[in-house]
Amino acid sequence: MGKVYLVGAGPGDPELITVKGLRLLRQADLIVYDSLAPAALLKEAPPACELRHVGKRAGAHSAAQDEINRILVAGARRYETVVRLKGGDPFVFGRGGEEVLALQDAGVPYELVPGVTSAVAVPENAGIPVTHRKMARSFHVITGHIAEDELDYQSCVKQEGTLVFLMGLSALPRIADGLQAGGMDGGTPAAVVSQGFSPRQRVLRAPLSEIARRAVEAKLEAPAVIVVGSAAALEFRYHPPFGVVGSDSFYARLQKAMGKEAGKLQHVMRIRLNVTDEGRRQLCDAFSRIEEFGWVVFTSRNAVAMCERIAEENHFKMSRLDHVRFAAIGPGTAERLQSAVGHVDLVPESYTSEALGEALVQKASVEKILAVRAESGRSEMFEIMDRAGTDYEKVLLYQSDGELLVPAEEFGDMKVLVFASASGANALLDAAAQSDIALDLPAVCIGEATAEALQQRGCEPEFTARPHTAEELARRLKEWGAAEDQRQEDSGTAGIKETIGNREREI
Ligand code: SAH
Repeated sequence: MGKVYLVGAGPGDPELITVKGLRLLRQADLIVYDSLAPAALLKEAPPACELRHVGKRAGAHSAAQDEINRILVAGARRYETVVRLKGGDPFVFGRGGEEVLALQDAGVPYELVPGVTSAVAVPENAGIPVTHRKMARSFHVITGHIAEDELDYQSCVKQEGTLVFLMGLSALPRIADGLQAGGMDGGTPAAVVSQGFSPRQRVLRAPLSEIARRAVEAKLEAPAVIVVGSAAALEFRYHPPFGVVGSDSFYARLQKAMGKEAGKLQHVMRIRLNVTDEGRRQLCDAFSRIEEFGWVVFTSRNAVAMCERIAEENHFKMSRLDHVRFAAIGPGTAERLQSAVGHVDLVPESYTSEALGEALVQKASVEKILAVRAESGRSEMFEIMDRAGTDYEKVLLYQSDGELLVPAEEFGDMKVLVFASASGANALLDAAAQSDIALDLPAVCIGEATAEALQQRGCEPEFTARPHTAEELARRLKEWGAAEDQRQEDSGTAGIKETIGNREREI
């Protein structure tokens, strides 16, 4: 006579079986399983092992249960090791007790191997703890099958713990009505987690008064675990950080603008802008001949700030600028210019290097232009002015360098990369080209020039924050993050593929 092991297979993820359960699967002569047991586990069976599928689902019809009992007893007479593989834990609504009684009656040795129950693990996989300090001091696992008539809803409500219903999806309207009739507030948080741990897992959270209607609308399918109580509103799930590429000051501004959600940010590359010696020399030279220029053009707010500082250091007389008109590539630069010199005379309609070049060619046809910019900036503006024969001089004032603040391999863990400047975009993309930084991540950015820099290198941003402020970027980021979480929830969690071995035989 062999032995029958009632093994809990866990709630759907094949990795959640116990070490002991897995060992037994690997030495089984016969495995009797039902649909809730993760099919991938069957691949662990030895080649000669017989696989026997029984029943659609736990809680099957009693005639089918008699048949299962018969198969187990017959199996033990024929084989040494029989594994009865059951979804979750064998004793949580799994009819494990009935199988044990049948084995006892037939004098068949047996052993129980516990499993991770869906009653706890499936809510957990959606970030819902069935108990939580001060909020949920007990949890109660109830079968939806008794919800029809026998359930004492009033005493359920009195428990004040988390209520967990298994096999309850079709009875959900009755459960929700019954609990409210028993005195539970319609606003009590509730959740349905369907097809837990599978690639099709879906999570619906709604107040008790709405949960049944919403579950129908969302076309949720069994198997599903229903959770009712304050804990159902919790979501303890790791959210990957938003990786930020930008200067320290930009990072600080964005953190402030994110408010409570600042913890989601991680500074992944620090961008530093350094005025070069040659740039400073060129600028001072141009300052000394400022009367020659009719226009001064800026393509970044940083360049304006640097010029302002150098002018101050050199005791440059601002009145020498009275004849000068100023052009800015976009609103951020314009704002900075406005505060530095009190007027901005040209901002192109679209905030690109081309548009600025074209606007200047038209407006400043006879005057000489001074363009102050970064060494690595785009050259379209100059090409356009060259073609038009416009008289200009450029000062390549500064260069930017990027310092990686996280190891290259951690980039893959980010939810999104946030770019604050074209120089930042270029610095990160350059670094990525030279190392193992995986850039198949969504990108978002602030300002048209940054968007353009990303697009130039084949990276289409999910959005470009306009106006060019940290507040607007924070607002868009929060909105995007929430929509993205919802999208992932709707499309199920990624990952577990199920394959069913094709080795079923009769015994
Ligand atoms: N013995 C099992 C429960 C069997 S009753 C255990 O301990 O988990 C079957 C019910 O379990 C289903 O109707 C559903 O409510 C729940 N269930 C089991 N696996 C599930 C899964 N992967 N996702 C959602 N619910 C699941």
